[in-house]
Amino acid sequence: MSLNSKHRIAFKQARVVLLISILLGLVSTGWQITLDLQQERRSLQAGIERILTLHRETASLAVYNLNQGQAEEITKALIAYPEIYSAKLVDDFGDPLAEHSRPQTESSWLSLLGSYFFRVETQIHESLSVDASANNTARLSIDLDAALIASSFASRAFTSLLFSLFYDVTLAAIFLILFYRWLSKPIENIVAWVNDLREGKEGQLPYTETDEIGDLVAGFSRLWEERKQVTDKLNETIQELSKSESFSRTLMDNAGDAMFLCFPDTRIVQVNNRAAQYLAETKACLLKRNMSEFSQNYSHDELVSLFASLDEQQVTSFEDSYRSKNGTLIPIEARVIKLVLEESDYLLIMVRDISVRKEAEKQIYDLAFFDPLTALPNRRLFMDRLTSSLELHNANHKFGAVLYLDLDRFKTVNDSLGHGVGDALLCEIANRIKKILPATSTCSRFGGDEFVVLLPEIGENAEVSAEIAANLALQVLEQIRAPFEVNSHTLYCSASIGISMFPDKSNVASDVLRCADTALYKAKALGRNCFQFFDPEMQSSAQQRLDVEKGLHLAVDNQELELWFQPQTDIDDKIIGAEALVRWNHPQRGLILPGEFIPVAEDSGQIIEVGEWVIAESLRLLAQWRVQGLPESFRRLSINISPLQFMQVNFVETLFALLDASKISGNMIELEITENMLLNKFEVASNKMNLLKQRGISFAIDDFGTGYSSLKYLRYLPLDVLKIDRSFVAGLRSLSEEAAIIEVIIATADRLDLQVIAEGVETKEERFALQSLGCCCFQGYLFSKPVPASQIYEMLQQSVETTAS
Ligand code: C2E
Ligand code: CA
Ligand code: CA
Repeated sequence: MSLNSKHRIAFKQARVVLLISILLGLVSTGWQITLDLQQERRSLQAGIERILTLHRETASLAVYNLNQGQAEEITKALIAYPEIYSAKLVDDFGDPLAEHSRPQTESSWLSLLGSYFFRVETQIHESLSVDASANNTARLSIDLDAALIASSFASRAFTSLLFSLFYDVTLAAIFLILFYRWLSKPIENIVAWVNDLREGKEGQLPYTETDEIGDLVAGFSRLWEERKQVTDKLNETIQELSKSESFSRTLMDNAGDAMFLCFPDTRIVQVNNRAAQYLAETKACLLKRNMSEFSQNYSHDELVSLFASLDEQQVTSFEDSYRSKNGTLIPIEARVIKLVLEESDYLLIMVRDISVRKEAEKQIYDLAFFDPLTALPNRRLFMDRLTSSLELHNANHKFGAVLYLDLDRFKTVNDSLGHGVGDALLCEIANRIKKILPATSTCSRFGGDEFVVLLPEIGENAEVSAEIAANLALQVLEQIRAPFEVNSHTLYCSASIGISMFPDKSNVASDVLRCADTALYKAKALGRNCFQFFDPEMQSSAQQRLDVEKGLHLAVDNQELELWFQPQTDIDDKIIGAEALVRWNHPQRGLILPGEFIPVAEDSGQIIEVGEWVIAESLRLLAQWRVQGLPESFRRLSINISPLQFMQVNFVETLFALLDASKISGNMIELEITENMLLNKFEVASNKMNLLKQRGISFAIDDFGTGYSSLKYLRYLPLDVLKIDRSFVAGLRSLSEEAAIIEVIIATADRLDLQVIAEGVETKEERFALQSLGCCCFQGYLFSKPVPASQIYEMLQQSVETTAS
């Protein structure tokens, strides 16, 4: 940018300097001229005065003597002075004595200007004293050459003015040059340098002197440099930022994965095209939603806490599935990273559709773990499940079973009807087996005609579990025996099953399987179409239980059940009651004790039927004895009640109906129940007991001391008797541990106002020990073993007689 020369500082300064110096020059010259003027005037007057004084004497004399010649000489002498152009000497009569003049200097513009300023009296009349008495006065008159005087003065003044002007202009010019050199030029250079800098051209410092401008330039240069650095950096950053911003936007939009940027509360902040595509929504729509709305595996709270648990800057992946707007379920893999952007927490979730992978995984999984023909789990999956089952059972002390099934003579089907029919038959068999198995079980096919079933957690007791397994095996065999319709062929089939229970001695899956296999061979050897346990004891126990279960169905109808009674005595050996104990008079096996069939009946539910029979039979007999006569000492007949029976909804009703039918008062019976039953369903049990109590029925806690013995039920239930378990009585001696327990039981009973009876009293020692501890009622072999009804009645009769005698 070039400056108009008028606007340059040097010019401006020079102009100001010029003006001021001219002004000052004019003033000082004016002043000088004024002073000069006054001086000139004074010296002119003094000069004239001196001339006049010089000539006055002679002029007076000339006049006095009327000496013309002298007068002439005087006037001539006077005009010889350049200032005087005319002189006249007049005598005291007023007559001119002598007069001389010469031409006046011609007046120029200078003399005019001079006379303007230099105004003087140009006619001077000097009186001459000739005679003191005379009135008239002689005079010497002179005329001054004003033009001459003025012009000399004016030319001097003019010269001085000119000189002053010259001086001013020169000064101004010098200033102009100096200012230009020292100020304007450097500033101009600086301006050019600054302009260059602004255009990005870097040059040398325009000024390096060590003065104010130098400081200014250096300071500016430093400042510029700093600013440049900052700006450069800023530009760089901006450039990088915009580069990376567009870079990341392009990346995000073109990424193969769906990307969601969201807040920790799962609110979506930003998504890419792929995300919108996955969820069949517009990008704008997605921004108003929460991630949790799409998740099928996580609730909102779960997702929030999952996000919260993530480590910063660490990618965490999890699987989920999203439901898109059009209803498609997309299995996804999400990788999440926690980010802090502008001091706020965000989560960047990169989501990948893994449908294809999932499908492939499923195929691989199916191929690896399932039998392609029947779609049942294969050996591998079975072994996996068996292994984990073993671990589980070791921990929870439950029992499971493995059923190894092999079709009898399946080869014939294959050979005669072809593999197609054989395959179809296998599928049918698989379906039938699956249908009857519990949901927790695994039915697998090991290839060929071998099926293996895993039955986990069937029971808490080995015998019961074995029986359940045996029962299932029977059902499976039955299913397979039923004819199959395959490709318009009616096929008859049978199978053999080997069963091994676990946990057993070995806890290795392959051992358990091998045992089942061995058992299978046993079953085959035994003529097929049957099942065999690996453990012979298990076999007989399960078989027996199955027989019991089967037989018990008929036992009630066939009147094979019998009631036996065991008397209960007091301290004087008087019979105060009896406990009804059921027996099964089996047509083949003879008398079976309840220990063998009651647990089976309890497990199979048959106990309800049996129990009802027991109550009815007890009441029937009691009614009969009452008619025949009972001893006074006889208080109550005790009847054992199973928990399942007691918990039947209609238990109370049924009992009342039976009481009504036999016209027996509730006071005459006592129900023996076990502690554990009460704890399980305290509320229900308590309600029932209270109802029964209203009819005068008593309650005894059977096997007391072997259960939880919670004070809660002792206090809040309408109990009457605690029946000390046999285990405390057997071999009872004073000061033994058992004695201490019995003492506590008796003390508790006393506090709660309950009676105590000890069961299983076999020896006199036990009896006396009990007596010494405060127990006064006894039941046990010491007095009598359980006896049939007719016999107990006789004992009652005898008791009456002994009392009578
Ligand atoms: P429990 O209620 O504890 O019955 C007493 C059992 O102890 C009876 O066995 C009895 O014969 C036996 N016993 C009596 N005194 C002695 C003795 O001095 N020494 C020894 N070692 N044992 C003695 P039982 O009749 O075999 O009954 C076994 C269990 O079967 C009973 O135990 C009871 O829990 C159950 N039970 C019997 N009858 C019925 C019934 O009608 N209904 C129900 N639910 N359970 C019954
Ligand atoms: Ca009992
Ligand atoms: Ca008992």
